[in-house]
Order: sequence, then structure tokens, then C-alpha cells
Amino acid sequence: MNYRDYSYEELENQMRDFGYPKFRTKQFFQWIHQNPIEKMEEITVFSKKMREDLEQKGSLALPVCVDDMQSQLDPTRKFLFQMSDGHIVESVAMFYQHGISLCLSTQVGCKMGCVFCATGKEGFVRNLSPSEILGQVVMIEKILGEKSTNLVMMGSGEPLDNWSAVKTFFELIHHPEGRGMGYRHITLSTAGVVPNIYAMAESGIPVNLSVSLHQPFQEKREELMPIAKRYQLPELMKATKHHQKKTGRRTTFEYTLIEGVNDRIEDAKQLKDILRDQNYHLNLIPINPVDPSFKRPKAVFLRKFQKHLQDAGVMNVTIRRELGTDISAACGQLKQRFVASQEDDNE
Ligand code: SF4
Repeated sequence: MNYRDYSYEELENQMRDFGYPKFRTKQFFQWIHQNPIEKMEEITVFSKKMREDLEQKGSLALPVCVDDMQSQLDPTRKFLFQMSDGHIVESVAMFYQHGISLCLSTQVGCKMGCVFCATGKEGFVRNLSPSEILGQVVMIEKILGEKSTNLVMMGSGEPLDNWSAVKTFFELIHHPEGRGMGYRHITLSTAGVVPNIYAMAESGIPVNLSVSLHQPFQEKREELMPIAKRYQLPELMKATKHHQKKTGRRTTFEYTLIEGVNDRIEDAKQLKDILRDQNYHLNLIPINPVDPSFKRPKAVFLRKFQKHLQDAGVMNVTIRRELGTDISAACGQLKQRFVASQEDDNE
């Protein structure tokens, strides 16, 4: 077991079972959540005997960075991390005036099968544990020598399909004895796993919610995102409203524009309809095609669709600035390229 998988309370129980007094939990938790340590010997407040004992009973292993790519166009950096069983996930660091945002993975692969996504094409392998999600933050901050200011759960995987581990990760990174990151600095992006939008709203963890909408018409959305068959648009919109009510947070709806697929005037009107009662922000994203049958819209189409939206009365719309497009921007693409290069090397 990795000690960074335990919530504070679980660590306290574990330490009690090992026969250590309560104050040791606080010291241990602070050390492992405020420092990027990997070896028990680095915890200087513990005796040698105690360090050896804890080393024997658990691990502090962190993911290993196997690739670190720097965009030539902007300061964006992408990392590939290898987990202890050899599986690889990707994470991204984006640099803004207000600080550093990290995009984290929550699963190896993904079950959702969105047709425009590289990770979706590779299928599902396994969930990441809380320590593997946290490990991406710890390692990136160690490499950069700087703390991040914001986190987005938008890398490979569907975070609400791994809600239990993601919830523990949120509690760990927010804990006052640990990293102490405010929940308002964290955003979870989902394809629309409705029951866990409710679970998240009820959890008392008020992180921001971002929903991958991409299509305002039910049937067409099902073609892009198979999960839409299970959780249909009216159900999804009801769940996002519930989250807004419970947390006081505005929902961001992500809308990946695909030329000729979802950029028509009817789409803008339908968007207006389904967003009617929502406290929302709409984010337009030009698709970064993994499938050549999807055309990336030119800037002029983006602006045209933005105008359609304004005419239809859809406000709070922004076009997302793209970062790191030269280092495989779309979800899962960086990992695909790395795996392909390893396969080439092995031939
Ligand atoms: S876009 Fe997200 S939810 Fe959809 S397949 Fe890719 S990783 Fe999964």
C-alpha cells in the first residue's frame, strides 16, 4: 500500500494499528503531503527504527517521469508518467499570468469511447489510485520547482467513473495539514456520468464542474459520445442544475466545434434552449482531430458560430485559447506517440 492512498483518518487508523501515538500521524501526513519525498529515510523527525518499520509496511513511491515535452509555441509542458506496474498516463502544465494550471489523468485509458478522443480509442485499462493522481501533481511541482495554482481533471480517463479515488485525492490535496489547495481552484471535467454528478454535489466538496457537451441534440450527441445513450441530455442538465444549487458554482459546458457537424445555426438555437435555466459558461474549442474525417474549423468558422450563439441569445461564451498544439494537444495523443516510438525502438 502507498501511504499517499490513505485519507487522514485512514492513515490515523493505520498508524494506531501499527502502535504509534496520534501525533505521529500528523507529522507523517505533513511530511508526505508537503514534500515530494519517496523514501522513508528522508523523514528526519522519525527514529531510524520507526522509518524502517514504516518502510517495510508501505511505500511512498511516486510515478516516474518518462517524457517531458516543451512546446515551441508557448510555455506549455507535457509529461508522461509511468506507474509502478508500467502503465503510462499523461499530464500537462499550462502557464498563465495568474499561475500554473495542471491537467491530470484519472484512469489508464477510458470506457467512454468518445469518437474524437485518442484515449477513448485505446479502451479502458484501469483506474488510477489517489496516490497516482496526487503523484502527478507532486512530480510536476518537483520538476518545475514551483507550486501549481489550479488543477483540472481533464487528462485521460473519466474522473466520475473513478469517483472514489478522485474524491480521496480532492480531500488529500485540500487537507490543511497537507497541500491546503482551495476547492475553487479545482475543476472536474465529465462526459456526463449523471449519478456521480449528484454524488459529487452531495459530497461537500465544492470543486468546479465542467461538462463535455459537444452536441445540443440528443441523437447526434449519442453518435459522438456513447455515454449519452445511458444519461440523456434532460437528465444531465437536471444534474448540473443540482450541482449549481448545492455548490453555488457556475457550470462550464465544453463545446468542441467540428466543422459541418455541430456549428450550424440550428445548433446555436438548440444550445440556447438546453442552457435556458442553467448558471453556465460556454467554452468553444476547435477540435484537434485524431480522426481525419473530423475537420478542424478555421478561425472564421469559430467566430461565425460565436455570432450565431450571440444572435440566439447564448451569452457567456469564450473561445478557448489553445496551448501546446505542437506537442500533441488532444487528449491521449502524447501518450500514443510515446508508445508508438517505444514500439519502433523495439522492432
Ligand atoms: S474525451 Fe474524456 S471521457 Fe471521452 S473518451 Fe476521451 S478521456 Fe474518455
